[in-house]
Formats: sequence, C-alpha cells, structure tokens
Amino acid sequence: MELATWTYEGPPHVGAMRIVTAMRDTHMVLHAPQGDTYADLLFTMIERRDRRPPVTYTTFRAADLGSDTADLLKTSAREAGERFAPQVLLVAASCTAELLQDDPGGLARSLGLGVPVVPLDLPAYQKKEDWGAAETFYRLVRGLHRPVPAEQRQRASCNILGPCALGFRHRDDIAEVRALLGAMGIAINVVAPDDASPADLTRLGEAGFNVVLYPEIAGTAADWLARTHRQPRTHGVPIGVGATRDFIREVADLAGVDPAPAMALERRDCRLPWYSRSVDSTYLTGKRVFVFGDATHAIAAARVGTEEFGFELAGLGTYSRTFARDVRKAADGYGLEALISDDHLEVEAAIAAACPELVLGTQMERHIAKRLGIGCAVISAPAHVQDYPARRAPQMGFEGANVLWDSWVHPLVMGLEEHLLAMFRGDAEFHDEAGASHLGVHATIPVAANEDASSTGGPVWDFQAEAELKKIPFFVRGKARRNTEAFAAERGSATITLDTLYEAKAHYGR
Ligand code: SF4
Repeated sequence: MELATWTYEGPPHVGAMRIVTAMRDTHMVLHAPQGDTYADLLFTMIERRDRRPPVTYTTFRAADLGSDTADLLKTSAREAGERFAPQVLLVAASCTAELLQDDPGGLARSLGLGVPVVPLDLPAYQKKEDWGAAETFYRLVRGLHRPVPAEQRQRASCNILGPCALGFRHRDDIAEVRALLGAMGIAINVVAPDDASPADLTRLGEAGFNVVLYPEIAGTAADWLARTHRQPRTHGVPIGVGATRDFIREVADLAGVDPAPAMALERRDCRLPWYSRSVDSTYLTGKRVFVFGDATHAIAAARVGTEEFGFELAGLGTYSRTFARDVRKAADGYGLEALISDDHLEVEAAIAAACPELVLGTQMERHIAKRLGIGCAVISAPAHVQDYPARRAPQMGFEGANVLWDSWVHPLVMGLEEHLLAMFRGDAEFHDEAGASHLGVHATIPVAANEDASSTGGPVWDFQAEAELKKIPFFVRGKARRNTEAFAAERGSATITLDTLYEAKAHYGR
C-alpha cells in the first residue's frame, strides 16, 4: 500500500461500506482505529445521504494497543446487535486493524448474538475499494442464497444487480433500466444491493436471469450464481444508444420476449442521434478525446464517443487493475495501448502527452484537465459532490444517452461559438462597436468607452498586434483592448506589439 494525497479507490472496507450503506436491515461492525469514521463523510457529504452509514466502529486508540483490542470488538458487536437488531451483521477489519490479527469475524460469531454474522476478509494491502464492494456483495449473496430449481423460475423475470452507495448515477440508472425491462413485460424480482434487505437476497434464485449493471460491483456474485445455480447473466451495459439497443436484444433473448416495445422507446425519448447529426454538431467530428475511469464507464464512453459523437479517441485507460484486461482489449480495437494506472500523476502525464481537446474521466481527471486548460466531463466514480445532482441524470438507457450528450458537449460549446464567430466575423452586427444584439440594431457601445488609445495620445497598435486582437471573440475584445492599452501605458510603451498583447494577457490572467 502506498500513501497518497489522491487515490482513485479507497481501501476495501470502504467498498464493504458501499454495500451495507445501500442495503436495509444490515449492519457492519468495523474494527478500526480512532479517526476512521472519516469514511462516513463520503456518504453524507459527497453523496448527500441523509443518514450515516450503518456502521459501528470499534475506534481503538493508541492506548488500547497494549491491552485487549479483541474485547473492544466483542463489546461493539454485542452492542450493535442489540441496538440495531439487523437481519445480518457483517464484521470486518480496516487496514490498521488487520495488522492486529484479532479475527473479528470469529470473535463476533462466538458471541451467539442471535443474528447471522457474515465475516469479511478484506486484505487491505493487496485489494481496493471496488474489490471490497464486490467481495462483500458476493459473501452476502452466497451466505443468504436459497436455491430454486431452474424449471421453477419465471423466465421473463430478472434481478438487477450492482447499484450501490457512492456509485456514479446508480440511483438514476435503475429507473431507466426498470423502464426498458417494464416495456418488454419483464418482471423485476429483486434490485440489489440498493435498497435490498438480506431477506430480499434470499429470493434472488427465483428470477430467470440477472441483469448486471456494474460488473465491478456485481460481477463476482453474478458469475457465482451463473456457475453454481445456472442462473444466466447479462454482459452488456446499456450506456449509449448502440449499447442500449444491444442490451435490449440480449435481455429479450434471455427472457424470451419481444424487444420491439423497448426499442420503440428510442424514437420517443432519445435525442442524441439527431443532435449529433445536426449541423452545429458536425463541429464535434474528429475532436480528440481522452477517456479514463472505471472499466465499465471508460469502455462505454470510448464506444459512445467514437460511434455516436464522431470523436477521435486520443487515449483510453482505467485505474482498475481487476478489469485491466477488458480495457486493454477495448483499447486494442481503437489501435491504442490502454493506460492502466492508479497513479494520478502518471495519468496527468499521459493526458498532457496526448493533447486531447476533451477529457472524459473521474473527479481526478477533472482537476487534471482544469490545470491543463482542457474541457472535461465526469463519467465515472470517484466523483465529487456536484456529480450527485438533485435532478435525475442517468447514464444508462435512452434518457441516459441524452444526458451524455448534454454533459459531454457542454465543455466544447466554446468551440461552437468560435466557429460561429468565424462565420459571421464580417457581419455588420458583429464588430467592436456593436452593442448586444438583443438590445436591437441601434444599440452601440459609447465611442468614449471603446476609443482607440492611439487617438488620445496613448500607445499605438502595430499591424500584427491589431490583427491578433481581431481574433479575440467580439464580446471580450473591447475589454482586451482596454486592458492591453492600460498595461502598455503603465510601462511607458509607445507601441503595442504581439509581445505586449501576450504579456498583458498573462498579467491579467494571473
Ligand atoms: S485504517 Fe486504513 S483507512 Fe483507516 S486511517 Fe488507517 S490507513 Fe486510513
């Protein structure tokens, strides 16, 4: 394990918290040092949940290390069992507690609490957050599963597996996927872990198949169900129009139903295909885009970007080593070498070297892109508070495709405006003296406010500098002119050259 100021993923016990926080009637006892309650803030501040995660921390201090930390664990487990009366009690150790070798799961089981105890083995020094989430969900599914013979299952029914706490737009994706399945008449048996209770997990076996929305979270459990209980699973993830069509076909095949009603929703709900073909949007074609995130969202974004927006892929990568093979394979298809790294400095260097015009990434890439002066949209966890909007903003299904359109095109909108400025540069309405067009054709900027300093004895613009100034969008050109003249006058320069213009820009940009 490496200490870092920024990490894409936390330790595996944070992954376990993402599962237990998403569920109902479940509690976790975490053997952890004082201060580890910081993890609660991920959920209450970043995801804006209205309650703290259902976790009891043993919060041992340095002074406790000389005595019996195992006693602390037993007391915490007993109190949590009595106070919260969960249907299942999970027990785990955080990174530091792992070193104490107290065997929290074994200790909790020995207490005879009257609730099922699921011990979690989360090797913090080898594994990370997503693995911790997948392992926790798998342990719960495996521990609670009640087999149902395949012939007794209803074929046109499914479980939706994967949505959990701190997921990127999981809450909104569920609604979209529910609508697609509902249009085809497929019954939804259980959605888990989000809002599922342990009792719900005992019913998973009743469904005909499993829809796996996020392989990082539900892949392990779904593979186990497929292998051990012959319950098939989906492999496609419906992000983007093409992938949503593929998903509908895959699900209809598994359920034995007609895909047409769900396909028909595209015509009614989806605006991405027309918007991306529309005249303004041809400006997007060939834009160089760097994509980085978890494997599911990065692979999906690469496909949507190239097939549906007309972007050119300048880079593709993931921080997830568990899913590196999938991302390598996808990158290979675009003639690229995948970037597999959880070192944000390495990612920053790769982005800088690729010179993209847009970055689609995580919260980390948003910072990187800002520093490099490149537009960015967030497509994947880890995300920040602004990526958990109050409104619905799914990534999946046809409405999700609309959301991708809005959020990816936005950072490039300045480019569209520049394009229009170039087209209309010679128009009477678009010149330095013109006022805002919404004020009518007679609105003009007062001459004194826009006066060339040369006519008032100030510095004189040379030919090159004047030409460069004209490249600046008209609505900021007057200000750029005045700032540059003030800058030159302060320094006693009689002539404004290209260098003066750039120096003034740097000066005011500081
Ligand atoms: S136990 Fe792990 S997560 Fe908790 S403070 Fe120590 S290093 Fe951080």
